[in-house]
Amino acid sequence: MSARPQHAPLIQFPVVDDCLQVGGMPLTRLAARIGSTPFYAYDRVKLTERVALLRRHLPPEVHLHYAMKANPMPAVVQHLAGLVDGLDIASGGELRVALDTPMAPHLISFAGPGKSDADLSCAIAAGVVLNLESEGEMERAAAIGRQLGVVPKVAVRVNPDFELKSSGMKMGGGPKQFGVDAERVPEMLARIGALGLDFQGFHIYSGSQNLKAEAICEAHEKTFALALRLAAHAPSPVRLLNIGGGFGIPYFPGEGRLDLEAVGANLKRLLPDVLRQLPGVQVVIELGRYLVAEAGVYVCRVIERKVSRGQVYLVTDGGLHHHLAASGNFGQVIRKNYPAVIGNKVAGGERETVSVVGPLCTPLDLLADQMEMARAEPGDLVVVFQSGAYGLSASPTAFLSHPGAREALV
Ligand SMILES: *Cc1c(COP(=O)(O)O)cnc(C)c1O
Repeated sequence: MSARPQHAPLIQFPVVDDCLQVGGMPLTRLAARIGSTPFYAYDRVKLTERVALLRRHLPPEVHLHYAMKANPMPAVVQHLAGLVDGLDIASGGELRVALDTPMAPHLISFAGPGKSDADLSCAIAAGVVLNLESEGEMERAAAIGRQLGVVPKVAVRVNPDFELKSSGMKMGGGPKQFGVDAERVPEMLARIGALGLDFQGFHIYSGSQNLKAEAICEAHEKTFALALRLAAHAPSPVRLLNIGGGFGIPYFPGEGRLDLEAVGANLKRLLPDVLRQLPGVQVVIELGRYLVAEAGVYVCRVIERKVSRGQVYLVTDGGLHHHLAASGNFGQVIRKNYPAVIGNKVAGGERETVSVVGPLCTPLDLLADQMEMARAEPGDLVVVFQSGAYGLSASPTAFLSHPGAREALV
């Protein structure tokens, strides 16, 4: 037995006759139903179950939003729109997908630096909430609102004076391109009042991909304290308090699952005081990957088995042009393997250590580096798990001009 760190157990997809079942059918049949490899498949039942899991652990007063940039596939967004309490968007393109769902526009909020006048105009006309990222954006929104004869709904995205500890990606604290520095917010709130904008509240987002409940609990406590301090300067009652998200999922060997129960218990403890001080406030948690990542798989087909100086390479029709994150080139410092299996031979008979590569002419095109898997032959299907977030839409699909990957909600 080796003491090497292992991937967290995958609880997502059943295996029948050694074949992975996705969307309620064997992977081999699903590949035929989708019609070509490579593809992404997102399991709608898993999405539904994930929302239910969150509802079980978070206090009922907490509103759950889906941050669309994790997976903007319209069918996925439509499905989630029926389950969550709001959508968070970060571009004009995401705005159009969000507006096609039944979600009411005032439950859609638009974050992101560098919103163009054209995007602001669409968003204001639609009646979505703008999470203002700067004073300049506030002035532009006010001018566009006057032209349209629509009062813009605005929240202030605050760059907090603290960081989310042990986060995969820090998005608040120190100098940042996101949000308005907390110390400048009181002055901005006065200006929002003077401009007659429809003030909604605050958006305080401090980080992403966090697996430590203590770090998230600490951030929640600091976020509420900051919001209460800033609320004293608000031009009207705070109706909306988006406290961010950052719930992580286990991708790599040695990573465990986030203790959702601890996060929920902490919110239960903190909420009564917040609701007392800000009566009628809607507390929002926005989650991207936590909702969708584990519901998705990326599937590609072995084209060739190749041996080079003793090392086996499975050369597939998929690669970093569809799944940059699994190749280790989307923000990782040290490359680690996503969990992966041969989907039509999960246990297999003979097992061996292989590297799974794609067809691109670059050594970066590596989906699995020296991983133990069932012995595979051409035609077998490689499955990369934890692929429902930051997959296709976060990949350089034009790089090397290979065919694209299909996506299906199953
Ligand atoms: C990216 C982003 C999210 C989603 O992050 P996840 O790690 O996928 O949960 C949420 N809110 C904002 C403002 C973001 O930029």
